[in-house]
Amino acid sequence: MNIAILGAGISGLSAAYRLAQLAPDTTIRVFDRRNRYGGVLETLNRDGFQIEQSADNFITTIPWGVKLCKELGLGEELVQTNPSVRRTYVVRHGRLYLLPDGFLMMAPTKLLPMATTPILSPFGKLRAGLELFIPARKDDLDESMAHFVRRRLGREVFERLVEPLVSGVYAADMEKLSVLATLPRFREMERDHGSLIRAMQKQLAANRAAHLAEQSGARYSMFVTLRNGLSSLCDALAAKLQPETLQTGREITKIGKTAEGQWTLETKSSNSQTTSAISPVKPEIFDAIILAVPVHESSRLLKDSVQELAGKLAKVEHEGTAIATFAFNSNQIKQTFHGMGFVVPKTEQSPILAGSFSSLKYEHRAPKGKFLIRIFAGGSRAPELAELPEEQLIPLLLTEMRKILKINGEPLFITISHWSRTMPQYHIGHRELVQEIESLTTSDPTLALAGNAFHGVGIPNCIQSGFLAAEKLAKLRTEQTE
Ligand SMILES: Cc1cc2nc3c(=O)[nH]c(=O)nc-3n(C[C@H](O)[C@H](O)[C@H](O)COP(=O)(O)OP(=O)(O)OC[C@H]3O[C@@H](n4cnc5c(N)ncnc54)[C@H](O)[C@@H]3O)c2cc1C
Repeated sequence: MNIAILGAGISGLSAAYRLAQLAPDTTIRVFDRRNRYGGVLETLNRDGFQIEQSADNFITTIPWGVKLCKELGLGEELVQTNPSVRRTYVVRHGRLYLLPDGFLMMAPTKLLPMATTPILSPFGKLRAGLELFIPARKDDLDESMAHFVRRRLGREVFERLVEPLVSGVYAADMEKLSVLATLPRFREMERDHGSLIRAMQKQLAANRAAHLAEQSGARYSMFVTLRNGLSSLCDALAAKLQPETLQTGREITKIGKTAEGQWTLETKSSNSQTTSAISPVKPEIFDAIILAVPVHESSRLLKDSVQELAGKLAKVEHEGTAIATFAFNSNQIKQTFHGMGFVVPKTEQSPILAGSFSSLKYEHRAPKGKFLIRIFAGGSRAPELAELPEEQLIPLLLTEMRKILKINGEPLFITISHWSRTMPQYHIGHRELVQEIESLTTSDPTLALAGNAFHGVGIPNCIQSGFLAAEKLAKLRTEQTE
């Protein structure tokens, strides 16, 4: 049996790794249009700095990331976020304010910091406090994140705290983002405890979340990275595959199906440095395929062979971001930061979505006496910025960054990465859409989908999606043998 995996990002690599374990006598080919594997994950090393071009860490509460690292012998390489700065700033009228201690994504764990924060007006604080008395929603119907937060905690908490935090992470429009598909645990808290504040306080009282009360923003204590960068995870996966498995520099241009039910893949290769030197290659035939490319691409490739599925996949919208990374000498930074980064509310009308003090978050990322900052732009708020050419984007972000942060002089260097249409948006109704997609794929044992468009965008979710796809096709192998 021979199986093709489309896409050599973390989802495709995880699928190939698991498939090779489960069905070692299967021929596996992983195609990627880029001349490298890893997809959006890419670690650059420059002048002693370690620069993550996209994702820079992953959550440990969804276990597949940590488990895979340990399985690959990278357990000792896992590094936790710097415990002394596990807080987040929010920009208000161009200035940085620390988010109230204990405010995590959508809910406060502590009341005093909420009552004393300068970010909210007295009315906004009162409205947030009323959350304790607002009746819980009893039905299971979906709603937007914006609606959910305004309903529970009021407009100010939404606009000044939650919108910037969540937009920063998901590059999303909160008015469209589904609460049930994105952060369902908050609806569970409402349902089980009648109030988000009460739920968080109960967790605190049970001492299960005590460590969280000293943090704000994302739950930083639950994130890890790898000492040599996230590319080292992709390298470790690639090292477990047969050398001929990875077919980088080969773009799939069309997927078809033969009368016997096999898959045909049309490819073109571009192994030279210039994209103009692309030559067509004759179609190859596979018994089964795993699609681990972004779903808009899967949809495009399947539109002639599996129309209904292609139509459903096309419904998942995507946003993109651009990340500019700036290196400085530490003495150019004229303030001491007590947080890992900052988020910018939509109401500030800034070109910056969020900023991360990369070398504070993980100290190994810059040499002693140096400082690394990542600035995010684009998302649903300003999609045009994700595509803006470097020469226009850099001055725009640098000027804005200087207004918010007190920085002297020019950066030592700047790197830019553009991630066009890479972030699937889990809009209202996403769970139902995924069910429809999955019911179409379960009926075909030779087709599996993996990636970030279905059950979570994070790296651990992508790894799990690859594993599940591999397990599905390995079953087919077992059935054939029997
Ligand atoms: C800017 C950014 C920041 C993020 N930050 C975090 C974070 O901090 N933590 C976290 O957990 N997650 C984060 N994520 C999410 C996470 O990194 C991604 O969801 C995950 O890496 C996606 O992996 P993938 O393999 O599914 O897709 P991709 O990495 O997109 O890989 C898909 C591959 O398919 C290839 N391809 C596409 N079309 C074709 C074709 N026709 N033929 C052949 N190959 C093709 C592409 O070249 C690509 O290599 C971030 C994502 C982005 C974009």
